[in-house]
Amino acid sequence: MVTSERKPFTDEPTTDEEDHVLARVDKLLAEHDPAGTPVRDFLGARFDTGLAWVWFPEGHGGLGLPAQLQDPVERKLRKEGAPSVVDQNVIGYAMGAPTVLAHGTEEQKKRLLRPLFTGEEIWCQLFSEPGAGSDLAGLATSAVADGDEWVVNGQKVWATLAHVSKWGLLVTRTDPNVPKHRGLTYFVVDMHAPGVEVRPLRQITGGAEFNEVFFTDVRIPDSMRLDAVGAGWRVATTTLMVERVAIGEGDQARESGPIDQALGLWKKKPDKTGVDRERLMRLWVGSEVARLTNLRAREMRRAGTPGPEGAVAKLTTAELEKRIYELCMDLMGMEGTTYPNGYEMKAPEAVNLLRNGGDERVAFLRSRGRSIEGGTSEIMRNILGERVLGLPSEPRADKDIAWAQVPRS
Ligand SMILES: Cc1cc2nc3c(=O)[nH]c(=O)nc-3n(C[C@H](O)[C@H](O)[C@H](O)COP(=O)(O)OP(=O)(O)OC[C@H]3O[C@@H](n4cnc5c(N)ncnc54)[C@H](O)[C@@H]3O)c2cc1C
Repeated sequence: MVTSERKPFTDEPTTDEEDHVLARVDKLLAEHDPAGTPVRDFLGARFDTGLAWVWFPEGHGGLGLPAQLQDPVERKLRKEGAPSVVDQNVIGYAMGAPTVLAHGTEEQKKRLLRPLFTGEEIWCQLFSEPGAGSDLAGLATSAVADGDEWVVNGQKVWATLAHVSKWGLLVTRTDPNVPKHRGLTYFVVDMHAPGVEVRPLRQITGGAEFNEVFFTDVRIPDSMRLDAVGAGWRVATTTLMVERVAIGEGDQARESGPIDQALGLWKKKPDKTGVDRERLMRLWVGSEVARLTNLRAREMRRAGTPGPEGAVAKLTTAELEKRIYELCMDLMGMEGTTYPNGYEMKAPEAVNLLRNGGDERVAFLRSRGRSIEGGTSEIMRNILGERVLGLPSEPRADKDIAWAQVPRS
């Protein structure tokens, strides 16, 4: 018997529930052959049948069942060659959907989740500003109420995939006269609204994954506000927590991802002098420890909203990737400095935030951003120190001062 009265993150799935979910996958595949069905039609049918995120409520892409049942769904669909648009809409999928689910109204969920899942509407994250990155709560982009609309002015930066996005996850300052964390409000902004200007920013890889975004008198209907006025920090925390878990989660299979690439290069190299074998083994062990730690963190996350374990996953994965691709460059020698496939100066339409990979030379350059995006390694260490190890917190001189009174350059 399958009920929708389950607690998705704490209840263990029953055998009946697993059978029920897998029967739905069979039915979906029988009625929509992945090879012959247009991608959006297939994903739309998957959403409608409750297999987008099984722990989401019925009618919103889920079945209200324990989240653990998602893994068998993904495995089976992947095996049958079913399409996914995660890379095209990674921010929508990994961050937008959980944020809308946790803080959105029924109307917002109905309007936003389906086209997000099918990839019809791409999402970006508009948090960072030139003067607010690690200190996100210090942001300055303002939203001023005007009837049942808000008027937004300011600048965001490093907005991944903003150039192809329909919606942006936007944190604004609505009250400058209270301490910084309390004066924020969160919106979903239409990136095609008048007054939104997106300009590409080029990275070390040559690609322009991210952008500057300027807002000049952009009007957002109040119906696109997530949660209460002034509750923006709480909503942003949901987004940041799931972002870190997503970036940190990496590959689930043993010896997959970056360490697999390093091993492949090592095996191919006829002359193994010059590169320390122990260095490779240490990275292999580190990858395995990180993978198992991340699996455990994932299970803990299922016991509730992701907590500081997302920071553990993000920190270890980002730092390991940098060291692994440095080893890859040492293994490649001079070849590591060439770009046989070209050093492409393009703005990609998809970004795999969840996993690095591909050409080791590009991955080496991209791995630098890994320890910055979603919060730098220093910030992850601060979170771990304070929230896991219980160390004294950093001095925060501006904590109780109205944002407008805090000196800034
Ligand atoms: C590839 C990539 C993609 C990104 N995509 C997005 C996106 O889609 N949307 C978005 O909003 N942002 C995005 N970002 C921005 C990212 O979140 C910020 O760059 C990051 O939070 C750091 O902020 P900052 O660049 O302003 O650096 P700062 O906060 O100015 O930090 C500068 C240096 O000081 C250190 N530092 C700062 N404060 C402390 C402290 N308290 N203790 C110790 N050290 C500290 C930092 O670790 C860093 O080394 C992206 C960044 C990258 C690299």
